[in-house]
Amino acid sequence: MNAPAPAVPAIDWARVREDFPLLRRTVHGKPLVYFDSANTGQKPAAVIEATDAFYREHNANVSRAVHALGSEATEAYEGARRKLAAHVNVRADELVLTSGTTFAINLVAYSWALPRLGPGDAILLTRMEHHANIVPWQLVAARTGAEVRVVDITPEGALDLDALQAAMTPDVKLLGVVHVSNVLGTVNPVREICRMARKRGIATLVDGSQALPHMPVDVAAIGCDFYALTGHKMCGPTGTGALWARREHLEAMPPFLGGGEMIREVSFEGTVFNDPPHRFEAGTPNIAGHVGLGTAVDYLDGIGMAAIAAREAELLAHLQEEMRRVDGLRIIGTAPDKAAVVSFLVEGAHAHDLATLLDLEGVAVRSGHHCAHPLMDFFGVPATCRASLAFYNTHAEIEAFIAALQKVRKLLA
Ligand code: PLP
Repeated sequence: MNAPAPAVPAIDWARVREDFPLLRRTVHGKPLVYFDSANTGQKPAAVIEATDAFYREHNANVSRAVHALGSEATEAYEGARRKLAAHVNVRADELVLTSGTTFAINLVAYSWALPRLGPGDAILLTRMEHHANIVPWQLVAARTGAEVRVVDITPEGALDLDALQAAMTPDVKLLGVVHVSNVLGTVNPVREICRMARKRGIATLVDGSQALPHMPVDVAAIGCDFYALTGHKMCGPTGTGALWARREHLEAMPPFLGGGEMIREVSFEGTVFNDPPHRFEAGTPNIAGHVGLGTAVDYLDGIGMAAIAAREAELLAHLQEEMRRVDGLRIIGTAPDKAAVVSFLVEGAHAHDLATLLDLEGVAVRSGHHCAHPLMDFFGVPATCRASLAFYNTHAEIEAFIAALQKVRKLLA
């Protein structure tokens, strides 16, 4: 006889939603339907309270003062690093705390790529990258003579793995790939992609901004060289995030910014830099923010990322099913493996008009190019609307969104 399947603990999602104070508010006299979590996530009370408690009870600078508060602040900050590292299964001393993904990618661009690349080298990107994983490489290319190349996607919005493999020529030194697209929701098979790249001696940078909020992420198992993440999309405060890099890269990388914290000894004859990760954390960091991010990690782990992924898959299935019933609505991004991010357009309506009218119904969706101009060009549109969900959203909100969409569509027709 087969052993019974392990019981999946039932989660009371209505209870979970109560952890988010902001979700109780109204907008234009209507209950808020917050479908813009890919832009920034809402924060549970535990995160708000942890940040508040840091300032009320422990506030001091880190790694400087010997007094009690200094030790408490340092321990809280380093504790957050350890929590985040454990959450993504990496060593804490390989995790540089940053202001977010943008800083993390720029750190790789300036500290790792700039001294290494030159004419004849190529940086390979995909069509679905966020500007944060495009522009730093253009700046590096302009300064080194290296070339930026792009791999295209399928009309469904998935990566063409054959094309990607074919583009991995010997001159490619770095591949930058997004784990989950912020526009299409496509989940890229980053483990397979990094294996392909590694075989060819190509370093890999994965932009994990939109993966961390939705699913368990095991960075060690992905096998990349660099993994960038942002805190504010995963229930943490804004201005938080991290870069994970293999220790051998961090050891070899010169500092990006100079200042306090990143040195061991300074004289006018020369400076001895600190060891990584502190070598890359010049100046006073966002201490309270990262303490809040540590609490966000505890909060997400308390629910369980696998449970969050399952809940969101169920919400996404409901949302897409309902959206497909709306006349004239086109979903952009229909790859089979998708996170709860749905870009769409309604025939005859501009994305901004749609989002503005939806807002009057209490529904917050983002409209625009989503910091992904090349992707808009690929689909031949200037902008889309994007409904992006999190585990704290509800089936009732999906119904309210569809009702609002139907109403707005008629107004714009
Ligand atoms: N990469 C992706 C895929 C994103 O969605 C975002 C934010 O929208 C970023 C990078 C930039 O993150 P941050 O603004 O936190 O630096």
